[in-house]
Amino acid sequence: MTKKIKTSSALKEQKGISQPEMTSQDSIDRIKKKRTNQISADALAHDILKGNITALSRGITLVESKNKDHLNEANALIMKCLPYANKSIRIGITGVPGVGKSTFIEAFGNLLISLGKKVAVLAIDPSSSLSKGSILGDKTRMEDLVKQPNAFIRPSASGETLGGVARKTRESIILCEAAGFDIIIIETVGVGQSETAVHSMVDFFLLLQLTGAGDELQGIKRGIIEMADAIAINKADGDNLKRAKIAKIEFDRTLHLYPEKSSNWQPKTAICSALNNEGIDAIWKIIQEYIQVTTKNGFFNKKRNEQNKFWLIQTIENQIKTDFFNRSKIKKELQKQLELIELNKTTPFACLLYTSPSPRD
Ligand code: GDP
Repeated sequence: MTKKIKTSSALKEQKGISQPEMTSQDSIDRIKKKRTNQISADALAHDILKGNITALSRGITLVESKNKDHLNEANALIMKCLPYANKSIRIGITGVPGVGKSTFIEAFGNLLISLGKKVAVLAIDPSSSLSKGSILGDKTRMEDLVKQPNAFIRPSASGETLGGVARKTRESIILCEAAGFDIIIIETVGVGQSETAVHSMVDFFLLLQLTGAGDELQGIKRGIIEMADAIAINKADGDNLKRAKIAKIEFDRTLHLYPEKSSNWQPKTAICSALNNEGIDAIWKIIQEYIQVTTKNGFFNKKRNEQNKFWLIQTIENQIKTDFFNRSKIKKELQKQLELIELNKTTPFACLLYTSPSPRD
């Protein structure tokens, strides 16, 4: 007799389950479908809340899934985890490629773990959505940290728009917090729009810089400096140490020229050597001070509230956009308009007349 296939949870699937007698494509498809359905939000949430890392990984895969069937389960999972989230410190780290982000996160993460924290590292990598390859994923990164039982490192979801990756990262934060991670580090390459996305989901934003503030300062986008709660000049070692100290003074001067932040926090500067593990604890002290100051003056909670509102609006906007482009009438009309554009028979702006949504569509 054929053993009954357990359908409640794929996590509990045992070795040695006998094969079904029929192996037609049809039956294979049916089995595949069954397996997919086995990703049950209940079971995953249960295991995530117990701190099970495999379940956390699977949960993130579920929220990242583009499969429409997974959407409901993913939403259910987020809802179940939400009451247990919100209890961490979320830190955004940005800087140009090569500034030392992974080396820094390795040193910083290990310091936090030595202090008894559980550290999750998530990445938002805009390059992965453009080139389908990932700057962040190319390297063997954070080799030590990755081995720590209290660390969880997850590269960015690839092949998505920045908006898509950002939303999924935000949901992943919730799952990591539910799994008991109390420090969430969101890393991004400081080359595009991703800093704004990261800024909209973290409590503290750290900009890593190299020396040579004077001239190079011109090249750094003003907006990124404005967002930073602290600027750390990395690679402050060897011959570079003196220049790093000068750069720090320059940055201090620059930061004082910026308008006061609504957090009442005056952004700090620091020098560090991620490679030599120097100055890392001072940066943790700055972050702790920030948390203390902003918790006391109410900004910490206010900012999280504002971020939640922002994400609510983003979610609605996304939903409206998806619904709109999925309408059969719009799909047909859009195709027609695209062809007309190619023939120079219309303008991109004239399309508005044809595609403006009507409630009767
Ligand atoms: P990322 O691209 O920003 O993640 O940068 P990486 O962490 O991969 O570092 C780029 C290069 O800089 C590597 O060769 C690191 O060893 C080196 N590096 C990182 N931090 C430091 C540091 O504090 N001092 C020195 N001298 N080199 C560093």
